[in-house]
Amino acid sequence: DLPTIYFVTPTYPRREQVAELTRLGQTLMHIPALHWIVADDTPECSPMISALLPKFGIPYTHIASPMPQIYRSNNAIPPRGVSNRRAALAWIRSYVKSGVVYFGDDDNTFDLKLFDEIRGTKKISMFPVGLIGSYGISSPVLRKGNVIGFFDSWPAKRKFPVDMAGFAVNVDLILKHPNATMPYKAGYEEDRFISSLGVKMSDIEPKANNCSEILVWHTQTLKKPPPTVKVTMELLSIVDT
Ligand code: UDP
Ligand code: MN
Repeated sequence: DLPTIYFVTPTYPRREQVAELTRLGQTLMHIPALHWIVADDTPECSPMISALLPKFGIPYTHIASPMPQIYRSNNAIPPRGVSNRRAALAWIRSYVKSGVVYFGDDDNTFDLKLFDEIRGTKKISMFPVGLIGSYGISSPVLRKGNVIGFFDSWPAKRKFPVDMAGFAVNVDLILKHPNATMPYKAGYEEDRFISSLGVKMSDIEPKANNCSEILVWHTQTLKKPPPTVKVTMELLSIVDT
């Protein structure tokens, strides 16, 4: 039996949301033994997303947990997707006994081969992420097949300077560390979460052909303000005819 991949996607309302989740959902449709956890950054599950998710025909869970207001208003960079990822971790702790957890943001791009790679994660696996930071790539550095360091354009004194998309963990490791969590600290979510799981460098399982292939990209959708179209009689009549 294939281990199930629990694919955790934090998401938030903006006009690109349905487009992002449609593209992602249609990627995930290709993957066997996958459970999609869509974690809304809203007080309640968005009805629009609730209506979208069944269309993909894949197993999913839709939960909601908004970013606490204090993190939106204290002038610091907000910790994006933390409250909702935490809720997904709590759901996993309550309902899941085995499998592999991966944090897949709604705007990233995933090669189908990535799923074959992460499915075999025993403790924690790591692999390169493309289109990230000023170096254009973030990756573990290997020597004789072992991870000995990291190539990342923003080390920031992190022990594990990796992107959210650059690692997967076995459910067992999460269950064995009941206090492991993601901090509300922008830029340090990955490092602190991985450290809270008690991970040592020697635990890291390199994937993607010894970290020589890019199977996930940190793509970002250009943010545009909503169009400011004045609805005139003329426009309405175009729709009418
Ligand atoms: N996100 C969220 N709430 C927010 C902003 C972002 O849940 O207020 C989600 C977003 O949908 C994505 C993830 O958190 O899945 C990372 O956010 P984003 O892609 O904006 O960050 P970046 O890729 O620029 O670091
Ligand atoms: Mn993103």
